[in-house]
Amino acid sequence: MLGPPGAGKGTQAGRLAHSRGVPKISTGDILRDAVQAGTDIGRAARSIMESGRLIGDDVMIEIVRERLGRPDAERGFILDGFPRTVKQAKALDDLLDDDEPLVVVDIEVPEETLVRRLGSRRICRNCGRNAVPGLTECAKCGGPLVQRRDDGADVMRERLRVYAHDTHPLVEYYRRRPTFRSVDGDQVPDAVAADLAAAVASVIGDRQ
Ligand code: AMP
Repeated sequence: MLGPPGAGKGTQAGRLAHSRGVPKISTGDILRDAVQAGTDIGRAARSIMESGRLIGDDVMIEIVRERLGRPDAERGFILDGFPRTVKQAKALDDLLDDDEPLVVVDIEVPEETLVRRLGSRRICRNCGRNAVPGLTECAKCGGPLVQRRDDGADVMRERLRVYAHDTHPLVEYYRRRPTFRSVDGDQVPDAVAADLAAAVASVIGDRQ
């Protein structure tokens, strides 16, 4: 799943993973868990994440290689937030067998919408889940809602800049493949989910 910060990748990846019965693998979530747990990777990643920059490719590739090797990923997976650079995309190609189709969907959202969404996004301080709009506490655990540290105005701008410079080139990397699709992400979440499901089905059918 490709798309800029605020495109709705996390939400949509979760829905698609649920409906297809495969795990959602979010590198942002893996890193936030590592920060919370205080592991070596978490300690090294924290300040980089808070600045809006990217963690090094070799670390990220190793994290994903290990995660994709677990049994629950055998029948497929939805990747959210990886790859983010052409080097990561090449490594992903190397990790996959030739008979495993890599469906790439780019969620397109205009910059004004991204800035508005990121500025108003709130997450649960306890469990980290995205808040449901309109609620004043976490729908899952009842925890208090806070702004994600990297959604503040300055860091958000840096994340959008890093996206344009490092990640957007991936669209060109993948565009000519027969398994590439793009979806209009500037719609209500249910409409994006329907378009996304149809895009994926147009490549690999409805099989679970
Ligand atoms: P996300 O939740 O996907 O927006 O990721 C939050 C932050 O984690 C990013 O701003 C990066 O600092 C870091 N991150 C997540 N995924 C990657 C990746 N594939 N490569 C490098 N850094 C990443």
